[in-house]
Amino acid sequence: MRESEAPLRILGANKPLFKAPIPVGQLYKPQWEQYCNAMSGIFERAYYNNNGPLLNELEEKIANFIGVKHAICTSNATLGLMIALDAMNLKGKVIVPAFTFVASVQAVEWNNLEPVLCDIEPNSQHIDIEHLKTLITDDVSAIMAVNLWGNVCNIIELERIAEEHNIKLIMDSAQAFAAEIDNRKVGQFGDCEVFSFHATKIINATEGGCICTNNDVLAGKMRAIRPTYPANPNIEVERVINARMSEAQAAMALLSFNQLQANLSKNRLLFNVYNDELRDVAGIRSINSSSNVKPNFQSFTFRVDEKEFGLNRDQLQRVLVEENILARRYFYPGLHSYLNYSSSTLENAVVACRESIQLPIGDLVDEKSAYQICQVIKLAQQLSRSIKEVL
Ligand SMILES: *Cc1c(COP(=O)(O)O)cnc(C)c1O
Repeated sequence: MRESEAPLRILGANKPLFKAPIPVGQLYKPQWEQYCNAMSGIFERAYYNNNGPLLNELEEKIANFIGVKHAICTSNATLGLMIALDAMNLKGKVIVPAFTFVASVQAVEWNNLEPVLCDIEPNSQHIDIEHLKTLITDDVSAIMAVNLWGNVCNIIELERIAEEHNIKLIMDSAQAFAAEIDNRKVGQFGDCEVFSFHATKIINATEGGCICTNNDVLAGKMRAIRPTYPANPNIEVERVINARMSEAQAAMALLSFNQLQANLSKNRLLFNVYNDELRDVAGIRSINSSSNVKPNFQSFTFRVDEKEFGLNRDQLQRVLVEENILARRYFYPGLHSYLNYSSSTLENAVVACRESIQLPIGDLVDEKSAYQICQVIKLAQQLSRSIKEVL
C-alpha cells in the first residue's frame, strides 16, 4: 500500500490511508433530484403529518413486501418498541438478550417492566435458547429477542417456546429489514416485530421505525397509541404518545425502499470481501448466519481473539481509526455493566462486548476500500509487536 514510509499511520506514516473518515452505518441516500421532487410534492399538498398519502403508501408497500397484515410506521424504532410493549398490557418481567442496543432494554423500562438479561450464543451473538429456558418464571410475560447484524435468530424455536409458556414474543428487528429465514421475510414472526429506519440501517428515513403484526386487535391499539387524529372511538387505550412518522420521513423511506435491491447487493459484495479476505487471519472470528437465513448484510462484525491475533480489539480499533476507518465497538459498554446483573451468567455477552468490532458497509465504502481495510487488518497482525510498543 505505502511504499516509502512506515506501513501504518500508527507506526509513523504521515497521512491516514483514507482522506475522509469512513463511518460504520449504511448511510444510503436518494438522488438529490428525487429528494427535491418528493419534498416539493409535500409542499404542494401542504400535508405534513398524520396518516398522509406518503405514509399510507409506505405502510402498504412494507406490508406487501414482508407478507404481513399490518405495517405501522413510527418516528423511530425505540418508540415503536415502547408502543408494542404498551399495547400488549404486559406485567412483570421481559427477557431481553444481554448483547443488544440499549434501546431494547430502555423500551422495557419505560413500560415499568423489568428486563431480565439472557446470555447469547457466542457464534451467532443471538439469544441463547438454552439459557432463555432457565429464565422463564411465572412473572415473565414476554420475550423481546433481537435480530442482530442483518441476520435472523432462531425465531421459529422462540415462537414455539412463547406459545408453550403462553407469553408474548416481540422481535427487535431494527437491523434486519429484508432479511429472511426459511424463505420467509422477517417482520411476520412472533406477536409483532419492530424495524428501524435510522440512517445507519438499510432503509433510511433519517429517523424512522415500523411495527409489523398479523394481529388486528393489536394493530388497532398500536395505531391508537401512536396516534392518528381523529382518534378511532372504538379503540380504548390507556395512554398515547406522539410517535407519528412525518411525510418527510416517509418520503425518504419510500426513496430508500426503491433502492433496496441495489443496496442489498452492494452490502453482500462488501460483506463477502471482508469475509473472504479475513477468513484465514488467525484470531478473527466473523459472525456468520446459519444456512436457512438470508441476511441483509448490513454489518460485518467479528470478534478479535487477542492471543491469536496479537492485538486486542481496542488496539486493533486504534490502528483502524488512525487510518480514518471508523470501526466501532459493538455493543460497548455492555448492558450487564450498567444494569445490576451478575455477569457470571452472561459470560458470552461479556466476551462479545470485549471482543466485537464492526467494519464499515454502506454508501461511503467501495469494493477497493474494503480490500484496503482488510490489508490494514492483516498488516496490524503482522506488525502487532511494534504496534504494542507504540500504544
Ligand atoms: C438501531 C437500533 C434500535 C433503535 O432504533 P431507532 O430507530 O434509532 O430508535 C433498537 N434496537 C437495535 C438492535 C438497533 O440496532
